[in-house]
Amino acid sequence: MDSVHEAAVRGTNDDAVISKASAVQAAYISDNFVKYFVKRPPRRPPIINRGTYVRTTGLDILITKFLETVKAKKQIVSFGAGSDTRYFSYKERSRPFHKYFEIDYPEITSRKVAIIRRHKQMYTLLGESARLGMGGMELYADDYCLIAGDLREFTTHVVDRLIQHGFDTSLPTIFLSECVLIYMESGDSDKIVRWVGENMSAAVFVVYEQILPDDAFGSVMLQNLKLRNIELRGIYAYPSLESQKERFLKRGWTHAEAIDINKMHDRHIDPRELERISRLELLDEVEEWRLLSAHYCIAWAYVAKNESIMEMLEQ
Ligand code: SAM
Repeated sequence: MDSVHEAAVRGTNDDAVISKASAVQAAYISDNFVKYFVKRPPRRPPIINRGTYVRTTGLDILITKFLETVKAKKQIVSFGAGSDTRYFSYKERSRPFHKYFEIDYPEITSRKVAIIRRHKQMYTLLGESARLGMGGMELYADDYCLIAGDLREFTTHVVDRLIQHGFDTSLPTIFLSECVLIYMESGDSDKIVRWVGENMSAAVFVVYEQILPDDAFGSVMLQNLKLRNIELRGIYAYPSLESQKERFLKRGWTHAEAIDINKMHDRHIDPRELERISRLELLDEVEEWRLLSAHYCIAWAYVAKNESIMEMLEQ
């Protein structure tokens, strides 16, 4: 039974990348690599395109802030990275980082490796050090490392593999979980959050996922996913903005914030950008968009054992 759920969870990566390709095609976001993952993207409805825009831009705002404020060498770790293309986009735009690690199930990483290898525009960005591992399931370069593994075995297995490939717990690191921890039992995701909080000398953790399972909209959301064998196993442990903050604060993190997509849209996105996207498509379903956006949150937290890095993270 669990393998049915696992396969369905891996399938959510197709949804994510198709939505991204649709948002690229409709000019909400720009990305030069997603086209290699989705040849002919179907057109998603305006509320989905707008949601993808705020999700992607919101995360980029937090990551860019980390990359720009922390002057030391720094790492990015993307949990359940799927077909995400950020490494390539950041590299293309010369955003500075020391090393970018991605982890996902082997079925997903093998596909990603094959696509990267087939497309020179991607492969050349990895540089001359690029090489395959684990029979084509993994890919390593000086500043990139794609690892195949199950995040439920993060503390027992995956961390060792990361360390083998140059992951350094003494470097400031931003950890990303974009719609990933929510599919796990909270016992498993809590272990990851605790391990990072206890073992890194300076870290930021960014989570994007669903909340509010209990209202009418939330129940329909869960039922629709259930029809596709997808369970949001972590949602009852962290069902609200407050509990999303608590998941970090109770596990040794110094500071945590959580906002929903409405607030990210209204307060954090550049008003000129909001003006630009409002001209792309007519958004008739404003109420539905607000309701949908209240059910997705972006939470972030930081911890630092070093005073000067802490000051930077607090900026
Ligand atoms: N983060 C990517 C993005 O936002 O485009 C992909 C998101 S997709 C909704 C969820 C991803 O998490 C899938 O690629 C899935 O395979 C991965 N995932 C979920 N649970 C996992 C686990 N236990 N171990 C490894 N990967 C996992």
